[in-house]
Amino acid sequence: MLKSSIVKEMYPLFINGEYVQSSSEETFPTYNPATGKPLAQIAKANREDVDQAVKAARLALEKGKWAKWPASRRAQILNRIAGIMRERFEELCELEVLNSGKSLSAAQGQVHQAIEDFELYAGACTTLSGQTKPVPNGFFHYTKKEPVGVCAQIIPWNYPLMMAAWKVAPALAAGCTIVLKPASLTPITAYVLADICHEAGVPSGVINVVTGSGADIGAYLTEHPGVDKVAFTGETNTGKDIMKNASATLKRITLELGGKSPNLVFADADLEGAVDGSLFGIFYNTGQSCEARSRLFVHESIYDSFIERFVEKTKKLRLGNPLQKTTQIGAIISAAQCDTIDSYVQSAIAEGARVLCGGKRPEGTDFQEGHWYEPTVIVDCHNQMKAAQEEIFGPVVMIMKFKEEQEAIQLANETEFGLAAAVWTQDFSRAHRVTEKLKAGVVMINTPFSAMPGLPFGGYKQSGFGRELAIESLDLYSETKSVLSFIGPKPLNPFGV
Ligand code: NAD
Repeated sequence: MLKSSIVKEMYPLFINGEYVQSSSEETFPTYNPATGKPLAQIAKANREDVDQAVKAARLALEKGKWAKWPASRRAQILNRIAGIMRERFEELCELEVLNSGKSLSAAQGQVHQAIEDFELYAGACTTLSGQTKPVPNGFFHYTKKEPVGVCAQIIPWNYPLMMAAWKVAPALAAGCTIVLKPASLTPITAYVLADICHEAGVPSGVINVVTGSGADIGAYLTEHPGVDKVAFTGETNTGKDIMKNASATLKRITLELGGKSPNLVFADADLEGAVDGSLFGIFYNTGQSCEARSRLFVHESIYDSFIERFVEKTKKLRLGNPLQKTTQIGAIISAAQCDTIDSYVQSAIAEGARVLCGGKRPEGTDFQEGHWYEPTVIVDCHNQMKAAQEEIFGPVVMIMKFKEEQEAIQLANETEFGLAAAVWTQDFSRAHRVTEKLKAGVVMINTPFSAMPGLPFGGYKQSGFGRELAIESLDLYSETKSVLSFIGPKPLNPFGV
C-alpha cells in the first residue's frame, strides 16, 4: 500500500476561487487508515479564515451572477462537474480509498453515485418554479423560489465525496453559495471537488472549502451571522449542538444523523437472499454507515439455519488492502474508532452476549499496520443492551429472535433512531403492513440498497430531519416568496379615509 503520487503533499483552503494557506499557517496531518501513516498535510482554518470564506460566499450570493443566471446555465455547469468527475473517476476513487480506508469497490459505487447526484440536480435546476394561487378579482398572485442563501455544509468521514455531493449539488442547483467543511479525517476529496467545480465554471466564492476542528470552526460556522442555512451530516449529539447554535439566528437546518437500523427477516423470506442482503446491510463500508442494519431480528423458526449461513458467509468476507479489487471489507477510519467498536463488543459480552465470529483485530501480516476490525456476529443478546441501542459505527451485528410480527415491529421501533429499516418476506401484504408501522425514513423490502439518486433519504426521530438526494431537497435550499399584486384600475382605500 504505497502512498500514491496523485496525493498532494499539502491541501490549502479554497476561498473565493483561490487556494490559500490558513491565516495562522497551521496545518494538520491526514492519514491512510489502512496503514496508519500520514498521507498529506491539510490547512487548519481558524475563525478568521471562516470569516473570509463566509464573506466570499455572501458576496458571491449578493453581487455575483450564480443565482441570477438562468437555471439552464447552472444546469450546464452541474453537468460539466459530473463530466469532469467522470474523467477523473479513477483518481477520485483512489483518493477516497487512500484517505478513508474503504474498499475500492465501495469507493467506486459511491463516486458513481456522487456523479449521478450532480446529473440529477442538473436536471432538477429547471424544475424550480413558482405557482399562481386563486385570489379575488383585481388581484394577481404568484410564488417564486429564491436561494436560501449562504449554506454551511458540514460532513462526516464515512462517505466523504458522496456526502459532499449530496449537499453541494442541490445547493448549487438552487443558486445558493457554500462553505463546505469536510471531516478532519477525510478532507482530500472535498478539495478535489472544489477544484472540479471551479474548472467546470462555478464562479469564485460560490463554493469555498475550509478544514479544521469541528468543535472550533464547525461550531463557529453554525452560529455565524453570515450563514443562512446549515446542512449537517454526522452524529446525533453533534446535530443537537448544531441545532442549539443555529437557533440563535434561526438558521434553516437540515440534520442527517445517526442510526441503529433494524433488519427483519420473516419465516417466509427467501433465506439465501435474506442472508446475502443482511450481510451487505451491515458489513458494507466496513459497517461505518449511518444506515447500517446493525440490529438483525430473525423469526425463531429459521433462526438456527439463518445464523449458520450468515456466520459461514461472514467468515468468507475478504478483508485486506483496500485498493485491491477483490477486497470487500476495508479498514476502520482510526485507532479511536477501533477502540470504540471493541468497547461495544466487550460491553455486549459483559451483558451476557456471545460472539460467534470476529470481535478482534484480524491476524496476519496485512493487518500489522493501520486500523482493522473483523466482521463480528453477536448472538444471545437482547434489544436493551447498550450495543443494541447505541450506534457502534463498525462491522458489528447483534442478531435477535422474534416470534410474532407485532413483536418484530415493536423491537424494530424500540430505539431513539429512525433512519432505515429492512424487511425480508415473500408475503406482499405483510411487507407493506410492516412497512406502514416502521418508524424509519427509509424502508427497504427484500433489498439491502437504501440510497439511489432521486429517492428521498433522511430520518425519523433522532436520526434527524430534512431529506436529501431527491428533487424535493431543493425546497430545503430555497425560500418561497409569495407575491400578491393589485392589478385593478384603482388601488383600494382600505381605511376609507
Ligand atoms: P461527527 O458528528 O463527529 O462529525 C461530523 C462533522 O461535524 C465533521 O466535519 C466534524 O468536524 C463536524 N463537527 C464536529 N463537532 C461539531 C460541532 N460542535 N459543530 C459543528 N460541526 C462539528 O460525525 P462523524 O464521526 O464524522 O460521522 C459519523 C456519524 O455520521 C455517525 O453518527 C453517522 O450515523 C452519521 N451519518 C449520518 C448519515 C445520514 O444520512 N443520516 C450519513 C452519514 C453519516
